[in-house]
Amino acid sequence: AYPKRIALLGSTGSIGQQTLDIVRCFPEQFQVVALAARSNLDLLAEQVREFRPSLVACFADSAELEQKARALFPNAILGERGLLAVATHADADVLVAATSGLMGLRPTMAAIEAGKTIALANKETLVMAGHIVTEAARRNGVSIVPVDSEHSAIWQCLHGEENNQIRRLILTASGGPFRTIPPEELRDVSVEQALAHPTWRMGPKITIDSATLMNKGLEVIESYWLFDVPYERIEVVVQPESIIHSMVEFCDGSIKMQASLPTMHLPIMHALTYPERLDTADKNLIRELHWPSIAALHFEELNLERFPCFRLALEAGKRGGTYPCALVGADEEAVAMFLEGKIPYQGIAQMLEAVLEQHNSIAQPDVNATLEACAWARRAAREWGEKHLAG
Ligand code: NDP
Ligand code: MG
Repeated sequence: AYPKRIALLGSTGSIGQQTLDIVRCFPEQFQVVALAARSNLDLLAEQVREFRPSLVACFADSAELEQKARALFPNAILGERGLLAVATHADADVLVAATSGLMGLRPTMAAIEAGKTIALANKETLVMAGHIVTEAARRNGVSIVPVDSEHSAIWQCLHGEENNQIRRLILTASGGPFRTIPPEELRDVSVEQALAHPTWRMGPKITIDSATLMNKGLEVIESYWLFDVPYERIEVVVQPESIIHSMVEFCDGSIKMQASLPTMHLPIMHALTYPERLDTADKNLIRELHWPSIAALHFEELNLERFPCFRLALEAGKRGGTYPCALVGADEEAVAMFLEGKIPYQGIAQMLEAVLEQHNSIAQPDVNATLEACAWARRAAREWGEKHLAG
């Protein structure tokens, strides 16, 4: 039923802004009831003027940001309390969880307990705490719908199908900016090169994760939780054009794939409108895929030696316990240190490996244990990085 009322965590980010593009195109269908961001308060102020949400939250984790937030938004709720208030806003039908990093878990859990549909972009939440989040969703009869393009593709392929007839999920990967450079040159790649993704414009953390293929490892784990398919039946193939967003092979050998030019508007919109579709002709939102101009689609095997982060992520996912939390925590810190220019590109994988080796996993962690394992991994990663890698 329209209008769908949206609470949006991370409104100033790449996914957040694209979510608001959709609302702007379909003002009858969507209404923004709550917005939350962290540091880009000028953009948040513009969004508040345009969309008039009844609730505004700022994470504002410094004295300076807090002061600015109080001046711009006298009624805003600050800190984690604000994120929780947005996630559970009484008027919201759906929470778009689009913060980057590790702050997504508690708000997402709170929204599930409050019965909201979750349009999930923040994959770290599901990787850290897949067992907790999916169990809570089941218990509360809440749907977690994917925003990530690969998972949206798989979900679309599965509409009208039975899960027990899946033979394989085949995730596609662009291969990132370092798909073809000689391995010996990886040592000297710069932050700018790693940030120059060939097919997608995204926030900095996921862009670096896409260069290392960590992102694809996280997506395999995300698929495991979203679609309940064992790891042996989840594969990855490189599709450099990013036109085929993923595929499902069924037990009879038939394969479905979902295609479009690379755009996040489409998967975000599908998460918000399922089971319906909105007509985007005349909206200037989704570029039409003109097949004859696509001369060829290419597929390649993923080179595991070139991308150790992918292997480390998969191992952590399969081992379970708090290994995925340690993975996500260590990666958060490793990517931050790489972006700060403190460690070389290949230090990211080295740091992950070292932290996972030191980690004492516990089985079936609850939310607190999950967040503790992440926090431990961040500290361990920074210490290890400073000792072994920082120049
Ligand atoms: P960005 O870095 O562009 O944006 C992150 C957003 O989260 C910003 O609005 C930021 O606020 C906000 N934020 C970060 N921390 C907090 C916090 N503690 N409290 C409140 N707000 C916070 O990231 P993306 O949009 O690229 O990615 C968001 C998530 O979606 C990630 O988990 C990513 O993996 C996933 N994703 C993204 C895709 C993409 O195409 N971008 C594709 C698939 C998944 P501010 O800017 O104001 O500081
Ligand atoms: Mg993706």
